[in-house]
Amino acid sequence: MTPNKPKTPIRRAPPRPLGRRVRREQRTIAAMFDVFCHDHHGGVDRAPGAKLCDHCTTLLRYAHQRLENCPFGEAKRVCNECATHCYSETRRAQVREVMRYAGPRMMRRFPFLALMHLWDKRRGG
Ligand SMILES: [Zn+2]
Repeated sequence: MTPNKPKTPIRRAPPRPLGRRVRREQRTIAAMFDVFCHDHHGGVDRAPGAKLCDHCTTLLRYAHQRLENCPFGEAKRVCNECATHCYSETRRAQVREVMRYAGPRMMRRFPFLALMHLWDKRRGG
């Protein structure tokens, strides 16, 4: 018996290593979802051990993917100041709602990330 080996491996562009800037933004947005989901969907729809509800998990995954594919990479601006509309219309409205709610609450719950985000903004980056 030979092991089941596909003749041609599936070719996929190797993922670009994510820079610090992008990873930090991913952490920030995950924290924002944390705040939003906790206050809006607390306890509902949760898979055991999952921090976010299904809806927020899907949306967060989408936002992370957009970040990973951001054409600006490490030189990116903060997302809400970016002129490139890489989100679909629906997703953008949903994510904006999360940010609008969580943004002002970040300083209290995640002061470090909030400060770093302000710093990224000030750099114009
Ligand atoms: Zn949620």
